Amino acid sequence: MSELRPLSYSSLRTYLECPLRWKFLYVDKLPEAPRSYFSFGRTIHSVLEELVRPFLVPEAVPRKSSGTSQRRLDEWQPSGPMVESHPRPLSKDELLAAYDRLWVRDGYSSPEEENRYKGLGENLLLRYYDQFLEEHPRPVAIEEYLQSTLDGVAVHGYVDRIDLTPRGGLEVLDYKTSREMAAHEARQSDQLSMYQVLVETNYALPVEHLTLYHLRSLTPHRSAARSATTLAHLSQKVGEVADGIRSQQFDPTPGRQCERCDFRGLCPEFREVPLEERQRLESLVDRFIQLRKDGEKVDADLHRVADELHAEAERLGVHRLPGRAGVAIRRREEEWSYAPDGVRPLLEEHGLLPRASRLDAAEIQRLVRDPTIDPAVRHEISKRGGRQVRWYWELDHPEPDS
Ligand code: SF4
Repeated sequence: MSELRPLSYSSLRTYLECPLRWKFLYVDKLPEAPRSYFSFGRTIHSVLEELVRPFLVPEAVPRKSSGTSQRRLDEWQPSGPMVESHPRPLSKDELLAAYDRLWVRDGYSSPEEENRYKGLGENLLLRYYDQFLEEHPRPVAIEEYLQSTLDGVAVHGYVDRIDLTPRGGLEVLDYKTSREMAAHEARQSDQLSMYQVLVETNYALPVEHLTLYHLRSLTPHRSAARSATTLAHLSQKVGEVADGIRSQQFDPTPGRQCERCDFRGLCPEFREVPLEERQRLESLVDRFIQLRKDGEKVDADLHRVADELHAEAERLGVHRLPGRAGVAIRRREEEWSYAPDGVRPLLEEHGLLPRASRLDAAEIQRLVRDPTIDPAVRHEISKRGGRQVRWYWELDHPEPDS
């Protein structure tokens, strides 16, 4: 495979959900059918970009250049007083005009569905407009493309919005147009973790908050910046995905994602056997099923007869049972186990610990059989172990005449 291209969060998630779907999308570059919720999300994001753009104050935040290190939040002092800008916001009419202009029509199953979404978006934008102006945010970037690396793998993404916080840190926002959202999603989102890495690679200010902004309920689900441990975990995930892609591990992994997968017709988990092959294969499959059933029955019979023979051998006190076709010979196998905490004090007391450094069952059994150790001590050790006995049968039967 050629060199690995940068991974976005959505690419990472797709691979983790199903490597084969990732291959269809990112190697074979097969198109997906448009979906109403994607079109709706794209439209809303574009309109919000127009709403927020006049408020941008990118110069308020230092960018990282080589040799610039990340400042901690308590070290950050804005140079000079914050200058309040007075941008002219879009009017509500301009906002709705932008909504009409930027509306993406693809993927709606009917004019009714499209109208329903249109009304929902209009309501959502008007409510968000009021809240946005009330919040007086200080956005420094919107829909910004950023790159970084995790575990040596290039990662990239578009960050919906980056704000300067009152404490002089950064807040990374991702807009969500989904129906519902729980607060814990922001705390657990790998997407936000990746955005933190992207932002902190490119900005000389620390990320203070990571926020999933749920637009339908106008709720910013805010979480603190991720710890080094969480970022290391993400880094490991990215490394594992990159390894999987490089070694071309593209197995299908069926799950809930199959419901919205456009490639079911190509996927071995869902592909139908061609009609002309079906009859021949049906008899092969049926024969296999029958043999499996026969095998299970033979196994069950084998166990039952072995148990019967065992009972007879016990009753007669013998280990060899002759038949006409050969002799069945009963063999015994035993396995010992010791809880280390149970034997350690005893071995210590008798100076035997150096002879069983691993404290595993094989070592301890060697001590139990060691004639140089006092038999009373050996007996005491063996009493601290548990023994499992298994009987099995060997066959001694003449080779058939060649
Ligand atoms: S149908 Fe399911 S298992 Fe098959 S490629 Fe799509 S997501 Fe993967």
